[in-house]
Amino acid sequence: MLVKDPVCRMEIYPRKATGTSDYQGQTYYFCSADCKRAFNKNSAGFLGSMKGEIRGKRA
Ligand SMILES: [Zn+2]
Repeated sequence: MLVKDPVCRMEIYPRKATGTSDYQGQTYYFCSADCKRAFNKNSAGFLGSMKGEIRGKRA
């Protein structure tokens, strides 16, 4: 199963993720340490923009 890196929006396999982060009970996966660092700095910002994108695509 693919998961989405919330920072760069790349789809990755959890097994191949370089880093993970738990935020509000959810685990997020990152393609690189840089993405993980960026997410940890601004979790709400990345998740907010990701939600908007998913809604736009699937509506
Ligand atoms: Zn990334």
